[in-house]
Amino acid sequence: MSLDQHPVLLVTGASRGIGAAVAIKAAEQGWSVLVNYAQNEAAARSVADAIAAKGGTARIVKGDTGTEEGIAAIFAAVDREFGRLDGLVNNAGVVDQTARVDEMSRERLERMFAINVIGKIRAASEAVKRMSTRQGGRGGVIVNISSMAAVLGSPGQYVDYAAAKGAVDTFTIGLAREVAAEGIRVNAIRPGIIATDIHASGGLPDRAKDLAPSVPMQRAGSADEVAEAVLYLLSPQASYVTGAILNVSGGR
Ligand code: NAP
Repeated sequence: MSLDQHPVLLVTGASRGIGAAVAIKAAEQGWSVLVNYAQNEAAARSVADAIAAKGGTARIVKGDTGTEEGIAAIFAAVDREFGRLDGLVNNAGVVDQTARVDEMSRERLERMFAINVIGKIRAASEAVKRMSTRQGGRGGVIVNISSMAAVLGSPGQYVDYAAAKGAVDTFTIGLAREVAAEGIRVNAIRPGIIATDIHASGGLPDRAKDLAPSVPMQRAGSADEVAEAVLYLLSPQASYVTGAILNVSGGR
């Protein structure tokens, strides 16, 4: 296959954790990948290098999905580096320090929703403009990374994060129906407790280990296990799957 025949996948927040695992597996399956990151350029570069070492194609792009400047930089890179877009994994997401709702500031909520909700809607919007057969595109696929928090509510930890993920679920259903006749499938994954850096970023470095006994399968999941489910939803094997939300949570 020549380079320009490879489908192109944008993975937001792909320098570490679930996004990095998705980027690497997608490249193994023939996608050219745009690896987005917010701050950690070295980590993003190591993901792209790992892809190149196996003969794949990857580029990196810095951009905060919670800002318009970030979204513009990311999609300028899509157009400049590849000139096409076939898939979007809307993965970038953040938690915050454990807090009760009555302790949460407006500033905290604005960051939480800017990155976890508005950023995902804006990225999907730019992707649809490039993919929709209604707008001259060749179709595509979007996978939104939600969370079991959307169902569980995360009381005493981060109800704001859970509410943002609830919005991701509803957005997935609505967008899937809106663009179903335009060649675009839209689905979501709800990971459970996955061993990544995100827990430390919320001040709970041992959270995955500590919560493992509460998971019916008695363990945290890995980023690779989530990535496998994402790759299924991206694949032609999922050709009749849209508007679905798949729990990858060990039964939690
Ligand atoms: P992680 O290990 O903390 O990695 C976060 C990634 O997102 C990094 O690549 C980071 O880039 C990037 N990022 C953060 N803020 C960004 C922004 N504003 N713009 C662009 N990129 C940004 O997180 P993870 O655990 O892999 O989580 C990935 C997704 O899965 C999130 O949506 C999260 O809510 C969801 N999820 C995770 C779990 C879990 O237990 N881990 C459970 C349910 C859902 P830098 O390297 O540049 O900082």
